[in-house]
Amino acid sequence: MPLHFRSAWFKTLGQLVAVLAAAVLLGWLLGHVWLVLTVAALGVVAWHYWRLRKVLLRLTARQRIQSVHGEGVWNELDRLLYRGQSEMRTRKRHLLDLLRAYRAAADALPDAVVVVDRNTQRVQWFNKAATTLLGLQRSSLGTSLGDRLQPLPLSHWLAAGRNAEPMLDAASPVDPELRLNLRLISYSDEYWLLVARDVSKMLRLEQMRQDFVANVSHELRTPLTVVHGYLDMLDPTDFPDWAPILSEMQKQSQRMTQLVEDLLTLSRLEAQDSLPDESVAMAPMLATLKREAEALSQRRHNLVVQDEAGFDLWGSNKELHSAFSNLVSNAVRYTPVGGTITLRFAREGDGAVLSVRDTGYGIPQAHLPRITERFYRVSTSRSRESGGTGLGLSIVKHVLNLHQARLEVESEVGQGSLFSIHFNADRVHPREPDSTPRPSSQSQIA
Ligand code: ADP
Repeated sequence: MPLHFRSAWFKTLGQLVAVLAAAVLLGWLLGHVWLVLTVAALGVVAWHYWRLRKVLLRLTARQRIQSVHGEGVWNELDRLLYRGQSEMRTRKRHLLDLLRAYRAAADALPDAVVVVDRNTQRVQWFNKAATTLLGLQRSSLGTSLGDRLQPLPLSHWLAAGRNAEPMLDAASPVDPELRLNLRLISYSDEYWLLVARDVSKMLRLEQMRQDFVANVSHELRTPLTVVHGYLDMLDPTDFPDWAPILSEMQKQSQRMTQLVEDLLTLSRLEAQDSLPDESVAMAPMLATLKREAEALSQRRHNLVVQDEAGFDLWGSNKELHSAFSNLVSNAVRYTPVGGTITLRFAREGDGAVLSVRDTGYGIPQAHLPRITERFYRVSTSRSRESGGTGLGLSIVKHVLNLHQARLEVESEVGQGSLFSIHFNADRVHPREPDSTPRPSSQSQIA
C-alpha cells in the first residue's frame, strides 16, 4: 500500500475512533452510553454511504472529477479517480490526434481506398479520392459496394474473394473517360481493402507508344521493300569486287525487313482483344512446322515429331502457327549441328500441351524470367548471327495471352531447353475429319 494511501486510511480510522470515543463520553455524561454510541455509529455509516453515493453519481453521470485537497480515504479515492480520468483524457486526445493524422494521410492519397466488410460486402470507410474516382458519398457508408458501383463488374469479383483475379481494369462510374485499375487486398479476416488507381494517363502514354511503333514500322516498310528488292536483283557473282559488300547488304536488309515485319506483328497483336476462333487442325500444323524446321535446319539436326493428343485446338490458325514456328525456329537456331529437336503435342489433364525440346546451348536461369521481353537476348551476337530480331518470344507471349494459354520454359546451359505451351480444356476439342465451327457455348475469346 503506498504511503499516502496508508496515512489516509489511518486518518479515517482515527476519525472513527475519535467520533466513537466522543459518543461514549457524551453517553456517559447523559447516562445512555449505548444509545448515544449506536446513534453515532449509525451517523458514521450514513456519512460513508453519502460519500459513496456521491462517487457513484459522479461516475455514472460521467462528470469531470475535480481535483480535491482534503484527507481521508474518500478524498484519496477522489484524487485517484481524478488522476485516472485525466490520464484517460490525455490518451484519448493522443489517439484522436493520431486518427486525424491517419485520415489526413489517407485523404491525401491519390488512389481511392475503400474498406469493405468481407461477409456483407458493405462499405465501412473510404477516403476522399474514393469520392472523385468511384463516386462514393457519405450515404454510401453501410451500403453494398457492388450496388453502389453498379456499372463496375464488381459483384462477381467480390464474390470470388481470395480466388478472384488480383486486378481488374474498368472505366470509372463517375467519368467513363477515366480508366481505373482496381485491386482487392484481403488484410484481415473481416475486411478487404479496395484500392482504385487512375491509370488513364499511363494507358494514354502506352497507346501513344504503340501507335508510334506501329506508324514508324509502317513508314519504314515501303522504302525497305524497295531497297531489299533492288539488292536482291544484284547477283554478287556479277560484281566480284563488291561480292562481300553486296552479300552483307543483302543480309542486313533482310534482317531489317524481318525486324519491321515482327514489329508490325506485335503492334497488330497488341491492338487486338480477340482473335478469330477457328478449329486449328493439329496434324497438318505439325507437318507444316516439321517442313519449316527441315528447311531451316538443312539436315543439320535430328527432327522428331510426336503427335499424341488426338485433339485439335480452337483459336487462330495464323497466329498459333506464328507462335509455334517461332519456338521451332529458335530451337533450330540455338542448337548446334547434330542436336535433336523434338516437337510434341500431347494431352494434359483436360487440356493440351505443345512442347519444343532441344539439345542446344540452353539459357542461364537468371535470364529465364526476362526472355519474353521485347529485344531481350541472352547473347546478342548469337541472336544476330542466327538472324534473330529479339521479338520472337514476345510475339509468342502475346499470341498465347490472346488464347488464354501460358508458356513455360525449362533450360539448362549446355543441355538444352524445353518450351511448353499449355492450353486450357476449353481450347481443345476432339479431332474430327472436317473442321467444324465452334459451338457458341465455347465461342468467346477474352
Ligand atoms: P531472337 O530473335 O533473338 O531469337 P527471341 O525473342 O525469339 O529472340 O528469343 C529471345 C532470346 O532467348 C534469344 O535471343 C535467345 O538468347 C534465347 N532463346 C530463345 N529460344 C532459345 C532456345 N531454344 N535455346 C537457347 N536460347 C534461346
